[in-house]
Amino acid sequence: MATSVEGTVAARAKYEPVIGLEVHVQLLTESKIFCSCSTRFGEPPNSNVCPVCLGLPGALPVLNRKAVEFATLAAMALNCEIRETSIFARKNYFYPDLPKGYQISQYDKPLAERGFIEIQMNGGAAKRIGITRLHLEEDAGKSLHEGFVGASEQTAIDLNRSGVPLIEIVSEPDIASPDEAYEYLTRLKEIILYTGVSDCNMEEGSLRCDANVSVRLRGEKKFGTKTEVKNVNSFRFIREALEYEIDRQIEVIESGGKIMQETRLYNSAEGKTYGMRSKEQAHDYRYFPEPDLLPLVVDEKWQAQIRGMLPELPETRRKRMMADYGITVGDAYTLTLTKSLADQFESAAVAAKNPKRVANLVQSELMGRLKAHGLEIEQSPISMNALAMAADLVEGGRISGKMLKHLFDLCFERGKDFPIVYEEEGRPAQSRDTGAIETLLDKVIAENPKQVEQYRAGKKTVAQFFVGQVMKLSKGQANPQLVNELVSKRLG
Ligand SMILES: [Zn+2]
Repeated sequence: MATSVEGTVAARAKYEPVIGLEVHVQLLTESKIFCSCSTRFGEPPNSNVCPVCLGLPGALPVLNRKAVEFATLAAMALNCEIRETSIFARKNYFYPDLPKGYQISQYDKPLAERGFIEIQMNGGAAKRIGITRLHLEEDAGKSLHEGFVGASEQTAIDLNRSGVPLIEIVSEPDIASPDEAYEYLTRLKEIILYTGVSDCNMEEGSLRCDANVSVRLRGEKKFGTKTEVKNVNSFRFIREALEYEIDRQIEVIESGGKIMQETRLYNSAEGKTYGMRSKEQAHDYRYFPEPDLLPLVVDEKWQAQIRGMLPELPETRRKRMMADYGITVGDAYTLTLTKSLADQFESAAVAAKNPKRVANLVQSELMGRLKAHGLEIEQSPISMNALAMAADLVEGGRISGKMLKHLFDLCFERGKDFPIVYEEEGRPAQSRDTGAIETLLDKVIAENPKQVEQYRAGKKTVAQFFVGQVMKLSKGQANPQLVNELVSKRLG
């Protein structure tokens, strides 16, 4: 970009971005939303299709009950109000991967509305990002531009994905920065994963995000013209695409130009967005109620049933775990990263003699080592159960804190879990053998007459020097308390 760095900084201060996100999440049902074809990913092209999802004339859709249940569960987890009677609508447009010429979606009466997600930036106060609506719809097929014979001249269509159940989650334009967008998506994905209604796998397209972004002068109430950045395939790229797009819009406006309402594609290799087509308006789609489907009724009884399936959600769980185990906010976030990790931690902690010690070990011994080795907690060589075992060994005085550190180092060096390393090292135990410790102490005293003199002259702090030397000679296996006692007895 031609703008100087100072220019960009000054211009950025003048404007504020307004961001809204549309997220499509594929529901983890076995079969498609309106037919019994399989939803399995990675099958040979066009093998999971039938007259309904191919859009052949005369085929009639039948709604998948599980898809409704999953969508309602997700909506509840996102604090939405459920509409008892929602309506499916046809969204008409032509695209090669949509043979029937319309997508069955929901329009003016969606399944759920008025939800929110709370985000927290850099330990600041929680901010609510509104969720305008959550509706059910079917996915389209996929155009293939590579990976088959003749791909250089032709585009092929795979309709396996056509009719796969999706929920679309539309946020309010409450997001004020690319970082907030990143945080919103992270929390959204986490909540959806906790409910188990989707695997949110971005590489397989189970979670896709489009971002609407505009800028306006700070303090202004009116929205600027927005552009839509489409199908960016990671949260990091969405943040980057938004950063680029915000600067681009500011530059256009600052140089006297106008923002075109359009859809733009992000090129992650270049870090730039490119105009693709002018953005459609809702009326371009000629929505009308789907005549082949009855209104969808999720009555109170069914809603109560679904509500009963809601798990403890990440935010609540973090607060409870902080209270139960005395852990920091940061560690609560790490330990609740996935539901499975949080479950593993809690079952290990509860089984241990002292649950708080397990949590302490995570904070004091595990996190730093993971960071140093560039590992995520899911990749830790030390499992949560092993952590509980290690905590119990320290708790029962079998090993010292120092020995534990050494064993943990070995686990990371060897990429092996704690019980294995503990066996390999011959089940080391902390020594309470007074005779053996005294022999070591004799050696230390004989080698350090100066320090002995200092101690006897009244400098009692030198005792720690002797303790340290004995611990070192014992390779950390002597019981530190016992060494302390023996040192003061001998020197005193
Ligand atoms: Zn089908």
